[in-house]
Amino acid sequence: MLEFQWNALRTGDRVVVHDDADPRFGLHDATVSMVRTRFPGASEIGVRCDDRPSVMTRPWRHAVHLVPLEGDPDCWRCSASATNVSPTAVSVAPAGS
Ligand SMILES: [Zn+2]
Repeated sequence: MLEFQWNALRTGDRVVVHDDADPRFGLHDATVSMVRTRFPGASEIGVRCDDRPSVMTRPWRHAVHLVPLEGDPDCWRCSASATNVSPTAVSVAPAGS
């Protein structure tokens, strides 16, 4: 995710996140649950994955994608997990639609 996209995230936004603890680097549907704005610099972001809502994680900016996922040719995690993409990750509608 580009820095301007990262800094535009707000609580409640839907994203997909690579779990770096998962050796397959699979994507997980998640909701932004914490935003701490920094200026200058990138915000601190916390997310809660739908499959583990009790745990807030603070992912690396490059491990997070906007939804709907349109693919990121520069994401090495997506390339590594091309066969492991969550089927729901591509079908989640943006909030408010
Ligand atoms: Zn990716």
